[in-house]
Amino acid sequence: MNLANSLARIARQDPRRPAVFAGDRLHLDYGALAGRVARLAAGLRERGLDPGDRVALFMHNHTAYLELLYACWWAGLAVVPMNAKLHLREAQWIADHAGARWAFVTADVGTGLQVPGACIDVDGSDYAALPAPVPLPMASCAPTDLAWLFYTSGTTGKPKGVMLTHRNLLAMAMAYFTDVDAIEPEDAIVYGPPMSHGAGLYALPHMVAGARHVVPASGGFDPEEIFGLARRIGRLTMFAAPTVVKRLVDHAEANGLSGEGFKTIVYGGAPMYVQDLHRALRVMGPRFVQIYGQGESPMVITALSRRHLLDSAHPRHAERVASVGVAQTPVEVRVADADGVSLPAGEVGEVLVRGDTVMAGYWRDPKATEAAIRDGWLFTGDMGSLDEDGFLTLRDRSKDMIISGGSNIYPREVEEVLLTAPGVAEVSVVGAPDPEWGEIVVAFVVPQPGQAPDSAALDAVCLQQIARFKRPKRYVFCDALPKNNYGKVLKTELRERLKNGTA
Ligand code: AMP
Repeated sequence: MNLANSLARIARQDPRRPAVFAGDRLHLDYGALAGRVARLAAGLRERGLDPGDRVALFMHNHTAYLELLYACWWAGLAVVPMNAKLHLREAQWIADHAGARWAFVTADVGTGLQVPGACIDVDGSDYAALPAPVPLPMASCAPTDLAWLFYTSGTTGKPKGVMLTHRNLLAMAMAYFTDVDAIEPEDAIVYGPPMSHGAGLYALPHMVAGARHVVPASGGFDPEEIFGLARRIGRLTMFAAPTVVKRLVDHAEANGLSGEGFKTIVYGGAPMYVQDLHRALRVMGPRFVQIYGQGESPMVITALSRRHLLDSAHPRHAERVASVGVAQTPVEVRVADADGVSLPAGEVGEVLVRGDTVMAGYWRDPKATEAAIRDGWLFTGDMGSLDEDGFLTLRDRSKDMIISGGSNIYPREVEEVLLTAPGVAEVSVVGAPDPEWGEIVVAFVVPQPGQAPDSAALDAVCLQQIARFKRPKRYVFCDALPKNNYGKVLKTELRERLKNGTA
């Protein structure tokens, strides 16, 4: 089992099929892509890399990203993709921890990264000279061989290296077809968000289907550029975190655009507030699918399908839209107490997952692996509840839950309410230590441009919709929320600001 096999088989069947686009220009067809990948693989092996070696990718989105993912797999190597926005020191830490022997970088990001072997700029002459004249026969891999060492985004502490095998990623790719969307060869995935994360993982099902891969010329996410590609190339699919979806929808609304040219927008990776989802559906049409996953079971825990999102006649539609959907086909999902005992429908506990997408473990960290996978079940650290129909509603990560005066308060619930208040653009709710209550609820509020919502008005909105004890005891108004490189709000930093009095 080698993930590169999906590329080889399309190239054999239909070598002239368009494969990779640089902006709206065709860069390689499937025949040329497979040929180049096999010759790059030969170049890597001839220069001394052995099966099982790790290769770091520290670059913005680039056509070379796809070539290198598949060339490494073709050669039996494992990739270590790193977010291009990491500080060089953070990237160096990951490269060292992973024991990466080689690295590929773009000059804007990665020059300066130290590895024992070569550090190659993909726009330079060394990369151009790397493909060997004779292609390498594809390495044979065991299903359990490491394919992708995925460093967690590290919103707390040091990132951990999640070991994803060929089997894990093949199961992830197949689940796209069973639980997310069908893919036709004429469809195009656009890599706006970082390919080191979900966007890059979704290259795999699109390679399986022999679809088109579009790398924006900017190498990143720019709503205007993405809408331009939608107009010129069409049938675009994109994976995006909710904050990125919001920027896309803002752009559409401000410019009188619709979802024309887009096929599917898969959102996930962080909570999508119901209000934002309704606006997205209104502005861009029925093009959305939600997934819930985590590095440890990439892209695959649950999915909320297009059909479920649109089934407004269903008596529990409102609850379903606020959920993350049902278990995806390759996994079982249950909700359990701290001892791993399943809880009845409706009760909140930790979300547990078992199946072929669940990681092999953390790289060189057996203790963390033992803590995360118990009796074959991955403990996700997310809190949630299942309903009778199998729909999972996430609350918060267990560490984000606030315990105030002995009552559990889920920040997400308070955030959803505050977002309905006039003049509020973004909200994040955290707990602050308090001598009387243990913790109190604090809301960080980003006002909409030109608006100044006040605490009394926000209190009034809360009192109309949620229990009095859940209402924030303090509001902190700020211009922006701190976010990590994938657009997730850094609650740890907000809590830190409260602790050291800089909020
Ligand atoms: P990461 O491993 O960096 O992809 O982060 C995974 C975490 O993001 C999960 O454990 C959840 O806490 C959160 N997450 C992922 N998908 C969703 C979703 N659809 N809704 C809410 N939170 C999500």
